[in-house]
Amino acid sequence: MLDAKCRGAAPAAFFPSDGLGVESAQRVCTTCPVRVECLEYALANRIEHGVWGGASERERRRILRRRRGERDGQQAGVAGASRR
Ligand code: SF4
Repeated sequence: MLDAKCRGAAPAAFFPSDGLGVESAQRVCTTCPVRVECLEYALANRIEHGVWGGASERERRRILRRRRGERDGQQAGVAGASRR
């Protein structure tokens, strides 16, 4: 990710230990041109720690839960439709 805004930054800045550190990292991510790819990489690889794609650890867990719920709902809908 050559265009990453965090390129050259101290890696520790994206693995903060408190909320202020998270907000600071998220500010950098806000204007990053590879933000979407970065977030999807972290989600696909179940990366639990750090700020990726502008999302904190908690936000990524929330996104994964929501996607799982949507997927389960779609599968239930397909299964229900095929039984008719
Ligand atoms: S979105 Fe990803 S690549 Fe871009 S600055 Fe944030 S952590 Fe770095």
